[in-house]
Order: sequence, then C-alpha cells, then structure tokens
Amino acid sequence: MTVFLDQYRKAQTPEQTHFCPGCGHGNLLRYVDEALCALGCEARAIWVSPVGCGGLTDAYLSVSHILSAHGRASAVGTAVKRLHPDAVVIVSQGDGDLASIGFLEALHAANRGECLTVFFVNNANFAMTGGQMAPTTLLGQVSATTPGGRQFSEHGAPLKVCELFNQLEGPAFIARVAIGSERQIAEARRVIHRAVRNQVESRGYSFVEILSPCPSNWHCTPAEARDRVAEVMTQTYPLGIFRDADRSDMISARQRVTPYDPARVRAPFEALARPVTVQDPAPVRLNRPMSVCCAGFGGQGVLTLGRLIARIGLASGLNATWIPSYGPEMRGGSANCFVRLQESPVSTPIVDCPDVVIAMNQPALDRFASRAAADGVILYDSDVAAVTGDISARCVGIPATSCAAAAGLAQAANLVMLRAFLEHADITIDWDAVIGCLPERFGAEMSRLA
Ligand code: SF4
Repeated sequence: MTVFLDQYRKAQTPEQTHFCPGCGHGNLLRYVDEALCALGCEARAIWVSPVGCGGLTDAYLSVSHILSAHGRASAVGTAVKRLHPDAVVIVSQGDGDLASIGFLEALHAANRGECLTVFFVNNANFAMTGGQMAPTTLLGQVSATTPGGRQFSEHGAPLKVCELFNQLEGPAFIARVAIGSERQIAEARRVIHRAVRNQVESRGYSFVEILSPCPSNWHCTPAEARDRVAEVMTQTYPLGIFRDADRSDMISARQRVTPYDPARVRAPFEALARPVTVQDPAPVRLNRPMSVCCAGFGGQGVLTLGRLIARIGLASGLNATWIPSYGPEMRGGSANCFVRLQESPVSTPIVDCPDVVIAMNQPALDRFASRAAADGVILYDSDVAAVTGDISARCVGIPATSCAAAAGLAQAANLVMLRAFLEHADITIDWDAVIGCLPERFGAEMSRLA
C-alpha cells in the first residue's frame, strides 16, 4: 500500500511531479511514504511543508498536510504535535527555509526536543526562487547572488546544521545522508525510515539532513548533480549518524496540551458579543454624531471607559464602534481607544478629530488635545494633568483621581470621567436609564460617585 496519489494534482501533467528531473525531493517523498506504510501509521501522518520546492507535498501524498509560512514549519510542527501527540508529524524544510529564514524556530524545536521527525533538504541554494546563495552554499560555489563564488571572507562558512544541533541536549537522533551514489541513497532510505520509526516509538526529536541534488540551479545534468553530491558536497558535509539516543523519558514526562474545545474558545466571544438591550427611555440622545477619544495609562480603565460609552450608545439605540490601541506597554504605558456614536451606520471606526477627548494623564492630554475638534471639549484629570499651550477646544479639568478616592473607589477615576463625559458632551441624558444599562458593578459604582 502507498499513500502516493495516483494522479499528481498541481503538477504540469497528472503523471509528472513539479520537481525537476533528478531532484532529491522526490526521493524524500518516496522513502517517507514507504516508511509510513511499512510502520502502518499513514492514517496518523501529518506532513508540515515549507515554502520552497518542497512545498507542494499535498499534491503527491494522501496524508494530512499543512503548508506553513516561510521558515515556520518546525514551529507549526511543534503546535501540531503538542495538540495531537498521537499523530506522526513529519516536518520537511529546505536549506533556505530551515537554515536561513526559520533557523531560530528550527533550533528551538530541536533544543526543546520536540517529538518530531524533521527532514532538512540541503541542496546548497535557495532553489525555488532561482538559486540564490543559502547559508549552506559551498565555498566557491557560484549562485545567483555569488557570481564569483561564495567567499569565506565575504559570506562566512557553510552552515553545518547537524554539527550545530549536535551541541544541543534535546535531540534524540541526528543524521546526515545523501542522494548521491547508489550506496548513499540506500543508506538515506534506511535512515529516513529510522527517523520516522523513532517518532512512532516516541523516542524524541529526529533530524535528518539530506544532501540533495538540484540540477536546475547547479546547471548540470541529473547524473552530474548526483556525482557532485556524492563527491563534492560530502567533503563539506560529512555523512553519518551524529546522535542516536532515546529521549522517550523526556517525551512521556511532557505535559499534555488541553485538547481544543471550540466551546471554551467561543464562550468569551459570545459574552462580548451579547447584544445590549435597547432601553426605553434612551439613556442618551445625541444632538449630532459624536466621536470620543479616551486616553491614559494602561491599567487606568481607559479601554473600559470607551466600552462603557459605546454600551450606553447601543442601549440608546445608536450605532456605535469602539476601537482600542495599546501596545506592549499595556500596563503602565499609553493606552487609548476611540468611540463613535451616531444614528446612521458608522462607515469607519477611525477618528481623526474627536469631539470629546478624555485624557487621564499628562501624556494623553499632550498627545490628543491638539487633535480635538475646535468646537469640541477636552476633559482631563486635573489631579495629574494640566493644559499647556493654545488649545481651541473647551478644556474642563475634573479632579477624577481625588473624587474616586474620596468615594472609596480609588480604581474608579475612569467612572468619574464617564460622569463628566455625560455631563459635558453635547447630549441629553436620562441618569436612571444610564445606570440601568451599565453592567451591575459599574452601575453601582457610578451611583456611589453621584
Ligand atoms: S529547483 Fe532544484 S530543488 Fe527545486 S525542484 Fe528543481 S531540482 Fe529540485
């Protein structure tokens, strides 16, 4: 039995792969296919492909398949294996993909000893993109980007990934094989089978580097390319098994990842998306469409303040948008959000000139005061900020921090600013309806601040 498809989708003809004649990728697919079938695990196989010439595996093998972003196959393989520990996860990556773009991910997967089987196809160039120099390009080798040949002084030495990975404690099995001479190919087939078996037996991370001919970019015949692998590449990249250990204790001690439960993921989003009931009477009525900017430090409840304003708008039967902006400085750095309220549909949540700016610290006031609409209003916490310079909008200082503290709600300066917003914005309000439409905790605290 084989998992090779009868007809090759995505190839130029149904009978022909997209690989160039003499390419080593086909050998890898064939030998992994044989190993999966011989070990009876083809139904459990998940192949993680790279970007590059090895990226169309799903066209040839009827196993589950994920095409990862460039260089990320080892990281994707890690996630798949952790979530599906019973799967046999095959990661294949070329030398541009693994040794250059995704080297960090590959290195850390090896270091963590992920229970993966990683096949690293080394043909000493970025093949799919036209034969540029890769980290593995040989010294003196002519490539699209080294027309004079790779120079040690300019480009450094070829990267020997097996030797590097052999410095790590995590891997169980590290080997380098070649699609060169008949004897080397036979050994490659044996080692590939062994690397797949290692995962079936949960022995740990297996890494096999495959020196592979690339006749198209080496500008030679398939036979010459194989000779070059056998006689030239192996001078730089010696063949052999670098590590043969058993890390099954490490794998069995590993925590199992909680299986994916769509209901757990959906629940918080459903809570967020729960529609707000429109109140009668409306908590607020607008005299005109309104845009609001709430800004301050992360942790001051700035984003919550914006959400509450949007909620009051929704409860009033208005259309509302809320868009937050915060970065890695979520705690202590700047945070801001923009809210739009209007009767007609909102075409964009982006706000350039807010009608109301609510600034809860000096940096927020400095940053957003000049952006307020000329006929707008700026509400700022006068306990911690002061207006400087010429501001055309009306500025109102609110002692929010001290008011909240006096009410025994030190964390509720944002609710003081919400009250100020309701009082100073160009709207008509119904206080009881406002309190009634807020989540219970916020409604109670707002009543205490009154
Ligand atoms: S360019 Fe090289 S690696 Fe890519 S398919 Fe052709 S021979 Fe194989």
